[in-house]
Amino acid sequence: MVVTGIPARRARAALLTLSVVCSPVHVGCEPAPLRAPEVSASVATTAKRPDVILVMMDTVRTDHLGLFGYAKPISPALDALSEIATTYGRAYAQSSWTAPSVASLLTSRYPRELGVGQHPNRLPRNARTLPRVLREHGYQTLGVSTNLFISSRYGYETDFDRFDERWLSKGAKPTSSWVTNRALDFLREARQEDPIFLYAHYFDPHYDYVLHRDFDAGAHIYGPNPTRTLSFLGQKLRPELGEWDMVVSRRNYDSEIAYMDHHIGRLISGLKGLGRFDNAVVVVVADHGEEFLDHGSIGHGATVYDELIHVPLLIKAPGQTQGAWYEAPVALLDVAPTIVDLSGLSEEPRHLGTSLREGRQANDIFAATFRPTAKIALVRGRHKAIIDYQANDAWVFDLWEDPYEQHSIAAEHPELTASLLWQLERWHEGEFEPSNTHAVPLTQGEKALLRALGYGE
Ligand SMILES: [Zn+2]
Repeated sequence: MVVTGIPARRARAALLTLSVVCSPVHVGCEPAPLRAPEVSASVATTAKRPDVILVMMDTVRTDHLGLFGYAKPISPALDALSEIATTYGRAYAQSSWTAPSVASLLTSRYPRELGVGQHPNRLPRNARTLPRVLREHGYQTLGVSTNLFISSRYGYETDFDRFDERWLSKGAKPTSSWVTNRALDFLREARQEDPIFLYAHYFDPHYDYVLHRDFDAGAHIYGPNPTRTLSFLGQKLRPELGEWDMVVSRRNYDSEIAYMDHHIGRLISGLKGLGRFDNAVVVVVADHGEEFLDHGSIGHGATVYDELIHVPLLIKAPGQTQGAWYEAPVALLDVAPTIVDLSGLSEEPRHLGTSLREGRQANDIFAATFRPTAKIALVRGRHKAIIDYQANDAWVFDLWEDPYEQHSIAAEHPELTASLLWQLERWHEGEFEPSNTHAVPLTQGEKALLRALGYGE
């Protein structure tokens, strides 16, 4: 794949994570595949399988991380990890809010089929989640979550041997320290002879945006905190919000990322101290990004623009010691198949994604949100199409020339537009109708919490 012509911010980020095998300054450079696991499926025993560490960063935009070219030094731990892992420059979540995105990631199926496209229903009992697959092959499965949507209320504890959700986030109260502490406790208490799957779900970058005293990332240059509360999150833009609100919000959001990054760094150090890092599969990913008036709104879940569905993804294969940058689009549907592959297990027939171990065949990537009505997206190479059924409109963007999706080229390229929209509608119509009706009745307290976190009725 030729990677010249990529947007400046991505080229810059790529240069920051120079790989010995792929640099964007080389015309015709091929993306680097992940290094093959050191066990083969035919001879592997559970004792030889690699540990799998899956770190979920709730609500993290790619363009607020140093490894993606962000100027503020708020992600030193993730930047360091990128020097020994493969960074996916164009990874796409299959939805723009937690419940559908994480359900899709863990099952390699589209959210709507799982019945979690529009509502955070309970996972279907027959959903073959990644922890279920790994547990069947001798893994100890350990989960720590701070997001209500990824909790026992929605069936997520089922496939974990140990699952801790005691600190489901209340929004403003920081939880990253607790996630790392609990994850390290689990690792220390785990059986040494069996491989581990650890799922650690960090939540702090999610609204509310708190300024952390020791992680202000140069916050002083923006002046003091505003006196009024930043209680503006919602699906609709409130007209009184202005640029200053966004400056303050972004500053505090950055502080949350820096705070979380510090504790992810502690987790990585802890893994190294326990001798469980070098030969592990380590995946760091976000479920979605966050919008700060990029397209007229705040928060996430309401659109499928790149600030929400283009997410950071890093994968370190067992024994990998060199960083690499992979520029072609990949889907979060590909994460579970990649983990299964790198763990030396045979392919799961129900996985829709493909393993990234040998690179990904170029094909279409789809995403959707249904809050409150359907907005669907298709990424094909440098192009992206969006259909908004609420606005009854559609757009096509050239992401290399217009990475912030400001200028639709649909009118200028009618044939391309027709092809993309036809494929997108065909996918939407052909998707499984929701079969899962396991709605979870929420308590008044849980409803209040979700409203406080920006999830409207
Ligand atoms: Zn989320």
